[in-house]
Formats: sequence, structure tokens, C-alpha cells
Amino acid sequence: MPSATPTRKPYRLSEAGLRALRISGAKTGKAVAALNNSRRRRCDGCGMVTTPAALGAHQKHSGHTGWTEVRAA
Ligand SMILES: [Zn+2]
Repeated sequence: MPSATPTRKPYRLSEAGLRALRISGAKTGKAVAALNNSRRRRCDGCGMVTTPAALGAHQKHSGHTGWTEVRAA
């Protein structure tokens, strides 16, 4: 995880949501990964669509700012 994130990123998963996932048991990591993998964001700078983590890295390198949540069917 990148520790230095220049812009705030409103994560959809709340602390309470994360706690519920943790309580739910051993597959927490997998569940979180699945949630993250089902998310896509579009870079407002160039239109690239990718995962939130990849988009974060992309914007850090490219200097693009802003993104739009994309809902996969
Ligand atoms: Zn971009």
C-alpha cells in the first residue's frame, strides 16, 4: 500500500464494513480483494479505466487528477 497519497480518496468501504468483513472470518483478504477487483475507476485526465489501486499509481506517475467511479455489470 502506498503510504503517501497526495489526494484524498473516498473509499466506499467504511471502517464498519471492514470490521464486519474481518468478523466474518478467514476469507477476509479474499473478500476484500474481490471487492476491490470489482471496482473500476476512470481517470478524468486520460479516460483510462482500471482498478482504484492501479489508478492511484497511474495518477501519481502521470500527474492526472480526478476520477469517476465505474460500475462493472
Ligand atoms: Zn490518466
